[in-house]
Amino acid sequence: MDTLTQKRAVNTGRATGPSTAYDPAYDPLIASTPGQGRDYAPTYWIGTAGDPPPDDGPITHDIDVDVAIIGSGFTGLTTAIFLAQEYGIKATVLEANRVSWGCSTRNGGQAQCASGRLKRSQWIARYGLDTALRMHEEVCAGMETFKNLIKDIDCDPQPGGHLYIAHRPKAMPALEKEAKILREVFNYDARILDADTVKREYVDDKEAAGAMHEPEGIGIHAGKLAFGYLKKARALGAKVHPSSPVMGWETRNGVHYLKTPGGIVRARAVGIATGGYTSQGLHSQLKNRLLPILSNSIVTRPLTQAEIDACNFRTTQVITDTRILRHYYRLMPDGRVQIGSRSAITGHDAPEDKYKQFLIRDLHRKFPALEGIQIDYSWWGWVDVSHDMMPRIYQPDPKQTIYYALGYGGNGVMYSAQAGRRLAASIAGKGTPDLPIFRSKLPFPNVREVVESELFAPFRRFGQWWLYRWYHLKDEVI
Ligand SMILES: Cc1cc2nc3c(=O)[nH]c(=O)nc-3n(C[C@H](O)[C@H](O)[C@H](O)COP(=O)(O)OP(=O)(O)OC[C@H]3O[C@@H](n4cnc5c(N)ncnc54)[C@H](O)[C@@H]3O)c2cc1C
Repeated sequence: MDTLTQKRAVNTGRATGPSTAYDPAYDPLIASTPGQGRDYAPTYWIGTAGDPPPDDGPITHDIDVDVAIIGSGFTGLTTAIFLAQEYGIKATVLEANRVSWGCSTRNGGQAQCASGRLKRSQWIARYGLDTALRMHEEVCAGMETFKNLIKDIDCDPQPGGHLYIAHRPKAMPALEKEAKILREVFNYDARILDADTVKREYVDDKEAAGAMHEPEGIGIHAGKLAFGYLKKARALGAKVHPSSPVMGWETRNGVHYLKTPGGIVRARAVGIATGGYTSQGLHSQLKNRLLPILSNSIVTRPLTQAEIDACNFRTTQVITDTRILRHYYRLMPDGRVQIGSRSAITGHDAPEDKYKQFLIRDLHRKFPALEGIQIDYSWWGWVDVSHDMMPRIYQPDPKQTIYYALGYGGNGVMYSAQAGRRLAASIAGKGTPDLPIFRSKLPFPNVREVVESELFAPFRRFGQWWLYRWYHLKDEVI
């Protein structure tokens, strides 16, 4: 490393405020960076998390660092935590906007025992039984990593498991089959509930034709979790610099030159944790390897006791339904209902009111007693979907000290903690388990996979519109 003094921005002991407004039409496939110093999306999480904790201010000079992490969402921050905690490496986290501005402050807060979008039966079909069993161990270990990490973070946990509701009777046989595999092959105690039991003992979702209950699943407050991770990372010695987008990247003699508006960050190793906000031009290793997909979320005003009774909300567990274009929802600790699902295809269309209205219609269909209820929060964000529905935590070129953790496909609240742990181990040269998600690059689109997985999309945008219509037909009509 050369001898440039490691000058940094003065730590003001405050959170860096926004320098530009929130951009509701931001689109990662079009914009060259996610902006600089943008304000948070107007989410329930940001509205109720309290003041953001102090950070280290924007980069204002050229600096030399051992490890730079790009992106300060759950993945970037947990990577910094594990680098410090387990390997004594104090990372420098670079964030384009405010800390955890991306998905990590926009999600549904559902920590599930999953990674990527494939079911366990699909792991068996794709990888074979032995690898599928070891993959299951990996996500269960991830759940433990997550639980340990949030022990001392006040993020309003709602434990109790995950209720996977059949949105129509036709969905039950597949659910029963999956539950049997989970119990008998993976020794994971998934239970089938009939429609009456769901409606009487859990929640009167009018669509419910039954459900699978799985033992793992925790609802969390995403904003409080992000802020908790930030505090933890900094307490361990990591530096977190908001308003510092990486706008150019050169590698010379093994040193990475990351160009930010305030100065060049010269790093010996770089971890990429940019999720669905990864620009096409960030690095050639990533171009066209992710399909960012928009997801919408709304939160109602707090329900009255009469409304809670009318919906028979007896659980605060995290809930999803069996649609390919699934809904995720739950009753929050303060009595509001949060629900989310798919949104527009492009950032340009995302602010159109019809997407919010679709979600409100879906809420009413499940809970007619909430017809007309006031919606206090509405937002959307970009989910990082990989082209084979599974994430990768990987060093794409063994000759270059570049590592990434990407592609959780809407299942990153829990798994980002484990991915951060694995990414930290890779950067520290400690290796990762022998599983496909740690041994191969994020793939390019592959048409065969879409047919096999029947899930979102190894397709680019030109086909996404048609697939959404096909999925709608499969979910609601056929
Ligand atoms: C609406 C919605 C609902 C969701 N619900 C759930 C859920 O209930 N359960 C679940 O498990 N998962 C859910 N997810 C997914 C989950 O939120 C993500 O998997 C997780 O937050 C990913 O975290 P991350 O740190 O990898 O990425 P992000 O949190 O997206 O962070 C990436 C960061 O990188 C920054 N960045 C990008 N480019 C640059 C650059 N050039 N320079 C500097 N910084 C850069 C961005 O500004 C951003 O802050 C949801 C996602 C959305 C959008």
